Amino acid sequence: MPASCSPRDDKLPTKHDDIHQSESVSRHCAEWNYYGQGPSKWHEQYPVAKGQRQSPIDISTDKVEFDQTLSDNPLKVSYSNNCCQSVTNTGASFQVAVDGARAGTEISGGPLDSTYKLVQFHAHWGHGGNEGSEHTVNGVTYPAELHLVHWNTKYKDVTEAVDKPDGLAVIGIFFTMGEEHAGFKPITDLFSTVPRKTDKVDMKFKFDPACLLPAERDYWTYLGSLTTPPLHESVTWIVMKDPVEVSAEQLGALRSLLWETPSGEGQMCNNYRPPQPLQGRLVRASYTEEARIEDIIPAVILGALAIGVGTILTVSMIRTKRWL
Ligand SMILES: [Zn+2]
Repeated sequence: MPASCSPRDDKLPTKHDDIHQSESVSRHCAEWNYYGQGPSKWHEQYPVAKGQRQSPIDISTDKVEFDQTLSDNPLKVSYSNNCCQSVTNTGASFQVAVDGARAGTEISGGPLDSTYKLVQFHAHWGHGGNEGSEHTVNGVTYPAELHLVHWNTKYKDVTEAVDKPDGLAVIGIFFTMGEEHAGFKPITDLFSTVPRKTDKVDMKFKFDPACLLPAERDYWTYLGSLTTPPLHESVTWIVMKDPVEVSAEQLGALRSLLWETPSGEGQMCNNYRPPQPLQGRLVRASYTEEARIEDIIPAVILGALAIGVGTILTVSMIRTKRWL
């Protein structure tokens, strides 16, 4: 019987990479975890943990700067529904491996100067409530955060790209509790078949990772790092502003995965690194608050209603006076 997940006692800066679970990189990741050798101790083996462009960060929406070039050159996401190969329990998350040789596994545009190929995706989550995301927004956390990891095709492969300043691009997507995510369900349904570290199952169905993106593609971007050892400062982060809904059962499926702890097998959760110092970095936004049509429409409707009601009242008063 696995131990239930309990809140983590270390909340200090530290923890895991995003390409991390790529096999070519995992050899660097021995001996780190989220409990005894948790994020607050990662700097002992990985001094860059205290570097100048570490991730995640808290995104303060008062301080982000709208960048017209991001708006003029939209992020292009081109995924296919036959690029996902398998789901593995890495001992720190689940990981979906992607066959980057297939057409349609790329992103470009936005803050990116070249084409980046998807190599894997995984997530971070908490034990319950709203704790679990790595990035935070105005200090607020979400219950989970998905990371789609891409490598810059100007390099030979992901291994060569992983420690280069422009080597990786990760799309971060917040999960919030709500309706079941039908697109994500085929994957969460597989978790019961990969309960333990190194367990792996082939995906024998078509799955388009684009279904995990929010409908609205507004995002923040900044230069950061892997959020797990070896914490290379090589990631252009693209954090989606809008969260995606998943059900309580789907969050529960994440927590049904198991990992090893000093006290034995336990529920995998709280596998996130807390926000790191911004160190003067600029966070750019692809949007302006005024530009969102769905935010404007309710205001327009309310305004129209107010004018309508006002007109009716005025006419009514005039007529009343005449009758008097
Ligand atoms: Zn990650």
